[in-house]
Amino acid sequence: MSVSGKQPFGWQGQALHVNLSTGTIHSQPIPGEWLSNYLGGRGLGVRMMRDYYRLDPFDPDMPLIFAVGPLCGTAAPTAARLAVVSRSPLTNTIYDCSAGGRFAYRLKQAGYDALVVTGTSSRPVALNITADGARLDDATLLWGEPVSATVRAFANASSVAAIGPAGENGVLYASIMMSEGNAVGRGGLGAVMGHKKLKAITVKGDRKTRVADPDRLRLAQQDIMRLFRASPVIFGELGIAEYGTPALVDLMAQRRMAPTDNFRKTLFANSSNYSGPAIRKHFAARKDGCYACPIQCKKSTPQGEHLPEYETVSHFGALNRIDDLHTIVKANTLCNEMGLDTITAAATLAAWGEIRGEFPTATELGELLAAIAHRNGDGDLLALGSRRMAQQLGHPEVAMAVKSLELPAYDPRGAYGMALAYCTSNRGGCHLRAYPISHEILRKPVATDRFSFAGKARIIKIAEDSNAVIDSLVACKFSFFGASLEEYAEALSAVTGHDYSPQELKRIGERIYLTERFYNIENGFADTDDILPERFFTEEGSSGDGISINPIDRTRFLEERRKYYRIRGLDDHGRFTDSDFLGQQP
Ligand code: SF4
Repeated sequence: MSVSGKQPFGWQGQALHVNLSTGTIHSQPIPGEWLSNYLGGRGLGVRMMRDYYRLDPFDPDMPLIFAVGPLCGTAAPTAARLAVVSRSPLTNTIYDCSAGGRFAYRLKQAGYDALVVTGTSSRPVALNITADGARLDDATLLWGEPVSATVRAFANASSVAAIGPAGENGVLYASIMMSEGNAVGRGGLGAVMGHKKLKAITVKGDRKTRVADPDRLRLAQQDIMRLFRASPVIFGELGIAEYGTPALVDLMAQRRMAPTDNFRKTLFANSSNYSGPAIRKHFAARKDGCYACPIQCKKSTPQGEHLPEYETVSHFGALNRIDDLHTIVKANTLCNEMGLDTITAAATLAAWGEIRGEFPTATELGELLAAIAHRNGDGDLLALGSRRMAQQLGHPEVAMAVKSLELPAYDPRGAYGMALAYCTSNRGGCHLRAYPISHEILRKPVATDRFSFAGKARIIKIAEDSNAVIDSLVACKFSFFGASLEEYAEALSAVTGHDYSPQELKRIGERIYLTERFYNIENGFADTDDILPERFFTEEGSSGDGISINPIDRTRFLEERRKYYRIRGLDDHGRFTDSDFLGQQP
């Protein structure tokens, strides 16, 4: 098939391996079977983790994998994204995180589908990659610098991935930042990079991605763009291209599912202060976005300051009862500079606020975030994330997390598919693994009843598999407010010269998903980890205006979770019935 031979269509067929302990660097062919059966990005990274998934996240041999997809470098829309894969120090699960920026495109231009970093350097280093090779340079003078200063130090590089002080200091939710402002935000992979003493990676290249059938790709691209243009969620009057993801602020308030006061309420009276229209008005926000994306859903100021997304405004806002937009924007900028995940930072502060009986004030917020990044004072405990912090303070019940990953800004009492998906997610409480907000709130591709569990087990399973494919292509989930796997299968077939059907892609997604779950189960995770914090089963949210936000019916939740396990081919406790599952995978 097309992945055999020197440079296959779609892929480059090579991985760059860098061992920071020994300083050795070499490129190695990636088996064609891995590329065709795991695609790239998340899937390829998950396959590459097979020999390492049992290692501690901070074990020197733990790989930190940067992987691109077969559509990167082609005209396929939104597909120039990057996946970073490792084991998370925050959740201890297998973890992947996707980001935009030029890094993926440049890595592929340098001739690689993946960069695999192992080992730990004895001093801070920067890895510089070009199409002619790679080298490690001393980065001692950059250690301690914020992200923007680090990026500026590599002015001649095409693209930079860097950590800030949070990653250097082992904050368990440190991010990796791209030079264009995109974040490998969640799961603390910046701490894995910091532990390896790798301050930055630069990459430059000029190689092309080979496309098997350019005419077929052009038609697939036109088809995808037609569906984007027809989607109200993408290009509509109130869509994400217009207002960015903060377009969701008013919608979540109207649905009474905006997490407020550390999830004790679901409505914040002043949330309109930081809605999409408010951000546009106060900052003269202009369109911004990921490289090679026609949607451009991100927003920035005319001076180029990146403005926060929905999750960030809502969690620094409602979750912490802060209603001043400028304070929220400053907190977002500080997190980006320090290399901190905004969602976990805000949620950890909210949980801490509940324990001490006072949420962080607008004036102390900046100091607290800096203290976390540098692990000073209270920041040292807050750097561990909400679960560990709350446990150490004797209040484990206030950590609103699943598998130690803090829940994002969709209250599960207002969307039962979301409640299930938070729990079945392999990387912890994440909205993007199945993205049920799409059908439960945005009515895409069809509306489902948000207050019912009926049918959700199957819908979540299918969505998880589809999203594993999207993360492996590596495309953006927002594309699927318009297009579907059918159009992306066509684009992939045109690029690779191998006919992928949507059904085949779903089988690939299922393989990736089950492989991740297998790793987690082998590392001690069980059905007792696939559960929401107790609060959601016992306390109500903010009912009103004819909408009741009730506690979730635990019996019904557990019944649907059991159904989900069965649909996945697992036993009633979510375990594998075949201990040789991995051995049967390509
Ligand atoms: S839709 Fe937004 S998040 Fe997705 S690739 Fe485009 S700019 Fe990035």
